[in-house]
Amino acid sequence: MQEAIEKNLNEILSKLENSEAKLIAVTKTHPIEKLQTLYDLGFKIFGENRVQELTEKQEKLPKDIEWHLIGTLQRNKTKYIAPFVSMIHSVENFKLLKEIDKRAKQNERVIECLLQMHIAEEDTKFGLDEKELYEILENEELKTFENIKLVGLMGMATFTENESQVRSEFKKLKMLFDKVKTNFKTENINFREISMGMSGDYPIAIEEGATLVRVGSAIFGKR
Ligand SMILES: *Cc1c(COP(=O)(O)O)cnc(C)c1O
Repeated sequence: MQEAIEKNLNEILSKLENSEAKLIAVTKTHPIEKLQTLYDLGFKIFGENRVQELTEKQEKLPKDIEWHLIGTLQRNKTKYIAPFVSMIHSVENFKLLKEIDKRAKQNERVIECLLQMHIAEEDTKFGLDEKELYEILENEELKTFENIKLVGLMGMATFTENESQVRSEFKKLKMLFDKVKTNFKTENINFREISMGMSGDYPIAIEEGATLVRVGSAIFGKR
């Protein structure tokens, strides 16, 4: 098991070498031992998509791991991850942002957040449209949030073999990112991250400007 994980990890890291992108190892559904294996190889940036699994694993593993929440967050669960989470990729509404700010403040922390955009064709995928994105960025109350930082956008492409479609969806996210980056810069909005690309499409995402790729099965095998 360890050899396979190590080989996969090194293969992905070598593909990222000449790019801006950083790897987030998506550990959801995988047992603690596999996470520990990755940790022992010196890799410490993990992503989980469910709060309960995230907190259980965080309790059991070394404390210098950087944890990313990449899945939908229910507002009432924010308090469980606020003490330690490094970045939340899946912010989809203003009320949630307000709650993250409140809980971060209670923990005397600043939590970095990404706004999740709807870029896929399928309407099953989550995320904001452009209008909703600007409504959040232009909300006057946002200025009062001292314990969050909006640092970029996240998106998931359509699950398809059609490479040009995936590419054009990533391009769309990059375009939105560039627009916000030039037009919004405040105390708590400072765009630098584009979280896009998973096991099946991260090489395309890198070419299209991803700064964070979220890769699970290409490291650990099928779930
Ligand atoms: C599971 C998941 C990933 C990783 O998926 P793989 O295909 O296993 O690489 C990336 N992003 C999100 C939001 C996920 O839920």
